[in-house]
Amino acid sequence: MAKLTVKDFDVTSKRVLVRVDFNVPLDDELNITDDKRIAAALPTIKYLLNAGAKVILCSHLGRPKGAFDPKYSLAPVARRLAELLPETNVIFAEDVIGADAKAKAAALKDGEVLLLENVRFHKEETDNDENFARELASMAELYVSDAFGTVHRAHASTEGVAKFLPAAAGFLIEKELNFLMGALEEPARPFVAIMGGAKVGDKIGVIKNLLEKCDTLLIGGGMAYTFFKAQGLNIGDSLLDKDNIDLAAELLTYAKEKGVKLLLPVDTVVARAFDKDAEHMTVPSNAIPDGWQGLDIGEKTRELFRAEILPAATVIWNGPMGVFEFPAFAKGTEAVARACADCPGVTIIGGGDSASAVKECGLDDDMSHISTGGGASLELLEGKVLPGIAALNDK
Ligand code: AMP
Repeated sequence: MAKLTVKDFDVTSKRVLVRVDFNVPLDDELNITDDKRIAAALPTIKYLLNAGAKVILCSHLGRPKGAFDPKYSLAPVARRLAELLPETNVIFAEDVIGADAKAKAAALKDGEVLLLENVRFHKEETDNDENFARELASMAELYVSDAFGTVHRAHASTEGVAKFLPAAAGFLIEKELNFLMGALEEPARPFVAIMGGAKVGDKIGVIKNLLEKCDTLLIGGGMAYTFFKAQGLNIGDSLLDKDNIDLAAELLTYAKEKGVKLLLPVDTVVARAFDKDAEHMTVPSNAIPDGWQGLDIGEKTRELFRAEILPAATVIWNGPMGVFEFPAFAKGTEAVARACADCPGVTIIGGGDSASAVKECGLDDDMSHISTGGGASLELLEGKVLPGIAALNDK
């Protein structure tokens, strides 16, 4: 069901509480090393400011233990936000629901921004405590959720607060849902899904759900070896998800029943050790020698996968094709990133490692959508209901 978006609200002169994801990386001197998450929230913030709203932002940063910790203060983020919004008065509250936040929220003028301190300085946030959510809500008249990276968590600022205020999606969440749900509900075909990463066990739900929807499923990365094992092949010292060998076999059978073309790597780059400088060579996937481990897809597989990706009308990719952190074993992941970039169809990159790989290759602008939430996008692809989305009002 479609959810209300920020455009459905009359926000002029209203206090609007916006849950954003300002969980940015900081160095030891508390300098922000990457502000893309702040930039990602700007469209919603600017829209609200232009419409004359009083904008109250809240976010978490890191994992403080439910109490104030200067290491996790959002103060550096407030400074950066002020630089990004040079025309706007950006005010910082020293607490979340305390006297400072409440006084500053009450005094806020149209077109001003108030950033509250880290919501996770209260353990009630992750407990989804109702009173805490009520207190947060009491500072505003409307709630907008724009923190896609945390919508799979039922926390007070992502879910609880929506019980007390009219609640809508911001532009970032709207975009994520349009792409991810659009691909799942009405994909343009052929629809090619690409799965990689370490463990099949972590992604069984996603693979099962995608097998219901896609035409072709390409599997690479560490998870491929569990499928090889399920086919009775020797995998040497490659990564094996022992508990899920039977399940991998079931997924192979299920793909056949569903008529989905499931492709595993035909060749593999094997190494003597899990090391960036390890001796390595390429072998057919059915000839992995003992004492070697598969760390990337081979060249034939890169070509095979590219040939499947290029004519696709919809592509969803989650998880690297190999140990892309080591340059010698990053070629498979880079090749898939390049194929997605060259594909004229809709290309959707799940958050996390595949998103980082695409960015490292400088191909971000060539994708239709790069998700801002690794965990959240996986849960959506798995077909799960995300609490922070379910809590928003329906259209
Ligand atoms: P995931 O979090 O499941 O998406 O897994 C990502 C991790 O899988 C990355 O850190 C990769 O280095 C790792 N990975 C990918 N392919 C392999 C492989 N063949 N062997 C070991 N680890 C791998």
